[in-house]
Amino acid sequence: MENWESYVRKVVPYVPGEQPQAERMIKLNTNENPYPPAPGVQRALAGFNPDTLRLYPEPTCKVLVDAIASYYGLGSDQVFVGVGSDDVLAMIFLTFFNSGKPVFFPDITYSFYDVWADMLRIPYETKALDDAFEIRVEDYYGENGGVIFPNPNAPTGILMPLDKIEDIIAHNRDVIVVVDEAYIDFGGVSALPLIEKYDNLLIVQTFSKSRSMAGMRIGYAMGNAKLIRYINDVKYSFNSYTMNRTALALGVEAIRDRAYFEETRKKIIETREWTKKELRALGFTFGDSMSNFIFASHERVPATELFEALRREHIYVRHFTKERINNYLRISIGTREEMETFIRFLKEYLKEA
Ligand code: PMP
Repeated sequence: MENWESYVRKVVPYVPGEQPQAERMIKLNTNENPYPPAPGVQRALAGFNPDTLRLYPEPTCKVLVDAIASYYGLGSDQVFVGVGSDDVLAMIFLTFFNSGKPVFFPDITYSFYDVWADMLRIPYETKALDDAFEIRVEDYYGENGGVIFPNPNAPTGILMPLDKIEDIIAHNRDVIVVVDEAYIDFGGVSALPLIEKYDNLLIVQTFSKSRSMAGMRIGYAMGNAKLIRYINDVKYSFNSYTMNRTALALGVEAIRDRAYFEETRKKIIETREWTKKELRALGFTFGDSMSNFIFASHERVPATELFEALRREHIYVRHFTKERINNYLRISIGTREEMETFIRFLKEYLKEA
């Protein structure tokens, strides 16, 4: 090995879901929203003046921060925005998880957490979910360097009630607790009001799912003004211009349209409940997902076989090879029509399998 190679920051990167480029496909593998962004986003994009791209974007992201703050009734000093919640979460790991003590998160969870921890040399300890894939709050009582979990959890979709979340925060007043609410708009209750009571709590959300903007890359954190200031200090020490001009302009339109947001998330929730009923009738078992995906296992046919069979039909779902969950498929909720095609295929396939 050449000498320089021993000094490379060697990492095992996160593997994002596949982005197949087929013309006709049903894409249920990366929890995207099947509906387009709000009409205001489309109008703003059509009216976007490319000449402004000569200029750097406004580094504090004020228009977008203000719009998010006003939507939630917060002060603008309580909101941080980043390039998707992945960027926001990475900044949070970098800013707050520096005690040298292990950060706690579930064993089955968003598979980016251990990647950031490894890359940033942050020690961590995973806590096993129980047999129903639920978080055991007592596991998070011990001394640690921070706590992070998604609610609803990914890839299970299982929601933790607010009293349990508060219990975890109350037992961890000396560290930062991060609740990753990427999927909270699909039926969960946000822990956001708790930021007024707990100055060590950060809530992270995204425009990628419930606001149909995965391609624009907008995420945000909400918490005590002091926490937000610390994240901004790190952000400005890393990259001052994270949010580009289109993201700022279109993000404002996306958050502004409450009616469209309510309409599309309601449709997704209804389709999810319909899909659950159909899957159950076909012999699938799953936890009661409150997200825009269902994490399901079939009583007879292995997940890998179903994954391949669906793929041949250009129906893409996600399969994880990790132990404990390798016989499950994570199925994002598409339009009603897409889910009907998906179910129709499964019905036929399972008849013969
Ligand atoms: N948190 C969780 C739990 C997720 O599943 C995802 C989606 N991959 C993210 C955060 C990141 O989403 P984004 O960067 O698109 O906001």
